[in-house]
Amino acid sequence: MLFSAIVPCYNEEENVEDFYNEILKQEEYLKSNSLEFELIYVDDGSKDGTVSEVKKLIEKDKRVHLISFSRNFGKEAAIYAGLQNAKGDFAAIMDADLQDPPALLPQMFDAVLKEGYDCAATRRVNRKGEPPIRSWFARRFYALMKKISDTELMDGARDYRLMTRKIIDAVLSVKEYNRFSKGIFGWVGFKTKWIEFENVERRKGETKWSFWGLLKYSLEGIMAFSSAPLLIASYIGLFFTVIAFLALIFIFVRALIFGDPTSGWPSLACIIVLVAGVQLFCLGVVGQYLSKVYLEVKERPIYIVKEKI
Ligand code: UDP
Ligand code: MG
Repeated sequence: MLFSAIVPCYNEEENVEDFYNEILKQEEYLKSNSLEFELIYVDDGSKDGTVSEVKKLIEKDKRVHLISFSRNFGKEAAIYAGLQNAKGDFAAIMDADLQDPPALLPQMFDAVLKEGYDCAATRRVNRKGEPPIRSWFARRFYALMKKISDTELMDGARDYRLMTRKIIDAVLSVKEYNRFSKGIFGWVGFKTKWIEFENVERRKGETKWSFWGLLKYSLEGIMAFSSAPLLIASYIGLFFTVIAFLALIFIFVRALIFGDPTSGWPSLACIIVLVAGVQLFCLGVVGQYLSKVYLEVKERPIYIVKEKI
């Protein structure tokens, strides 16, 4: 049996070799369960020496492979490319910065090989070492998703999960361009064992995610797995229609009783601005979904390969 470890890398030259050394520590366990392994580094258009670091490893060890993108396509594209090129009966996505500890592999394989699970997923039970504001927003995101999406999303879930061939093929069959892997994993289903661990801080280098980057990513997650914002826009529209209707009756009756002196233009101006604002907001929500549809129908490839070894 073959296990494919997929490592998305974006400017991770300092971590490439460390990761290799860490995964070698699991070799014995894998061997004892008659598992071979291959290591697929997916270079997501790195601007540093990541590619040459991986090539050094390839010269040493034939089990190491490289897929290099023509530019930065994002981690989601790297995950997809890795899964497409994995030959294994099992695969796992692992961050190059060792925040997804290879030491959990035995526990994960036990769940799949001995306990009859289809998949072993990991989640961090805390976010120590992370800026508090980032953790707070992350928690809010998961709480919101729980309410507005049918797809199960676990708080603190990582992309690090051990998948059987069935699940790999299922994930690959989801061909959408706007990929949100955490959602896709939940969406494909299968029996999953959750393995919890304490947050590990990034070994070397810096995180690739800015606060705004994460915020954008979470909005993408919401749009990919929920149409609640569209519904909310409709509700707001309905709300204002009802208000306008009641106001109309009120003004009509008042004019009948007291006549119609011209007054109140400031309030009128406020109402016009308010309603225009709400309309633009709702149009914006619709526009966001439309732009996603636009990207989907263009059917552009999810990534472009520059080099593959
Ligand atoms: N990554 C990637 N493409 C990107 C950004 C990140 O392949 O555009 C990789 C990165 O090299 C790392 C993993 O995704 O292996 C997680 O990134 P990072 O550690 O920066 O995120 P964090 O752990 O801070 O959420
Ligand atoms: Mg990280």
